[in-house]
Amino acid sequence: MISMPTKKTEIQIETHEVWGIRQQPDSASVVCGDCQAGGLMIPVEKAAVVCQCSRRLIYRWIEKGALHFRELPDGAVLVCGVTLAAKLEQLEDATGALAR
Ligand SMILES: [Zn+2]
Repeated sequence: MISMPTKKTEIQIETHEVWGIRQQPDSASVVCGDCQAGGLMIPVEKAAVVCQCSRRLIYRWIEKGALHFRELPDGAVLVCGVTLAAKLEQLEDATGALAR
């Protein structure tokens, strides 16, 4: 009887692109000071990826006051994940209504 060598296959499922704000443990997580929920702040670049929209749109939301944001000393802008999620929901409701 021949014993088959057992091959160990590791399957890594990367979930970091999935909606749901998960910060890398090693990255400095900034908590939003403007909402009681203590939402984590994410970079505008990442917010644009999550929303599948342009950074320009994110900045427009910031200007409208729809998103909590914070500007870092190095010029990077972070947006609040909680307000971003709320804005996205509004957007999905609106596009859903248009599709019908
Ligand atoms: Zn906030």
